Parts: sequence; C-alpha cells; structure tokens
Amino acid sequence: MNEPPPIRDALEREGLWAKKSFGQHFLLDLNITRRIAREAGPLAGRPVLEIGPGPGGLTRALLEAGAAPLIVIEKDRRFLPLLEELVPWSQGRLRIVEGDALDADEAALLAGAGPAAIVSNLPYNVGTPLLVKWLKATSDWRGAMTLMFQKEVAERVVARVGDEAYGRLAVLAQSVCSARIVMRAPARAFVPPPKVDSAVVRLDPLPAPYPDLSALETVTAAAFGQRRKMLRSSLAALGGEALLAAADVPATARAEEIDIAGFQRLASAFQSLK
Ligand code: SAM
Repeated sequence: MNEPPPIRDALEREGLWAKKSFGQHFLLDLNITRRIAREAGPLAGRPVLEIGPGPGGLTRALLEAGAAPLIVIEKDRRFLPLLEELVPWSQGRLRIVEGDALDADEAALLAGAGPAAIVSNLPYNVGTPLLVKWLKATSDWRGAMTLMFQKEVAERVVARVGDEAYGRLAVLAQSVCSARIVMRAPARAFVPPPKVDSAVVRLDPLPAPYPDLSALETVTAAAFGQRRKMLRSSLAALGGEALLAAADVPATARAEEIDIAGFQRLASAFQSLK
C-alpha cells in the first residue's frame, strides 16, 4: 500500500488551520511522533486508543509501530477526510470515531480487544479531566498510557512529596499507576507553537492499585484546595481530627507534607467513618 502524502501537503490542500478552542497544536515531524510511539511500546499487535488524532501525525507513527486495532477519537470533523485517507494504508487496523473523548465509553470501544494502550498528544484544555477519567478506569484496559501534556501538568503528574508540583494530580495518578516523564518537547516542535513547552508522561497501571479513587478525589480536593491550612481545618467538613487520628496523620500537618500512602489512609478512613 502506498505511503499517504506528507501531512503538511494534506493540511495545505484541505486549507486546514489550527483551532485554538480545540487545543490544536500539531506534531508534523515524524521523528518526534515515532519517538512517542516507541516510548508507548511495544505496540505491535496491541490495541491502542488515540485521542485527538487531528491531521494524523501520531496516528501514522502508531500504525507504523504495528498498533492493531488503532481506535482514534477526534472531535473536529474537519480532520476526518485526512484520517480516512490512512484507512487503506492501515490495512483495516484504523478505526475512526468522531466525538468528544470526555463522553467516550472507552471500555465499550475496546471491548474484547485485550489489554490496550492509550496514546495522545492531548488537547491542553481537556488534558487533566481526561487523565482523571482514565485513572478511574485503568482496570478497563490494563495497558500503559503515554500522554503529551503541557510541561507544568506533566510535572504535577509525576511529582513526589516535597516537590513544588506535588498535589492532587500526583496523588491520584500514582495511587493507580507508576508515572515518569519519558520525553520533553520544546514549544517549537508544534505547529502552531503553544506558549509553553511540553512533556510526555508514561503511566503504567500498578499491580495493586488503590481501589477507591473517588474517596481519594474528595480528600485531596479538600486538602489541596486550602493547601496552606493545617489539615484539621481543611478537612474539618470531612471528619477533622477524628478522621486524621483514624488515618494516623498529624492534625497540624499541611497537605503538601503528606505522602501518597498518607492520603490513601485518609481516603480509607473517610470511607469507613462516613
Ligand atoms: N494528535 C495530533 C498531533 O499530534 O498533531 C493533534 C494533537 S492536538 C494537541 C489535540 C487534538 O485533539 C486536536 O486534533 C483536537 O481537535 C482534538 N480534540 C480537542 N478536544 C477534543 C475532545 N474533547 N475529544 C476528542 N478530540 C479532541
């Protein structure tokens, strides 16, 4: 099957420009998209879900790496004809879904496919809610997530207690996955360049993930929502001193001093005191 035309040519031919409201910053350099596919791998014969394929730069690299099937979800229908051009080249491995990834039922899309990977150069405006949605359901696909975020968000996902970026996102992510930055990309790697640099995070589901992310969300939202306050005050509405004693967490500590295991004890105590 012939290679599809270079993406830049296809974008020009179709008169497609990036829409800010859809967080569109494209990766047109195959060296970069191939590197992301490598960091997400091994992908040969593995089901993969890609969010926001846009003009298809990363999609091409994922297909080259052997993803099968590759299911892509794109909200901007202007790109559907460009993506359709990749279907014959993919030899039937590419499946295109038009829609909003926030509403997508990933488990249904991947039903029966076996452990699947999620790979995306995420739209910045919905990157964090999408990550939290996927963290809550890692058991549905059981594969790694390899995700490009704004650098600041990537640092918040991988932060350890004591780091400036440590907060709710680190606790949620690392309670169900191991998380590390595997690649950095300067703003100039994208067309058009965003205002900030980006980084790719790889998240691998833990063998024994913390089972109740909803309780963890409640506790971390309250604690980090008032991060300068002592926990006995920021967590007063959730049980205050009794909750902290049950979790063996000092009442005078602040959220940023509590490690991930501490937040998990708080979430478990919150559930049993409810
Ligand atoms: N993957 C392409 C690349 O690397 O060149 C495009 C990445 S661009 C940062 C984000 C893509 O996500 C855009 O194509 C945009 O239209 C799409 N998008 C934005 N919001 C979305 C949503 N809620 N659901 C699905 N796709 C979305």
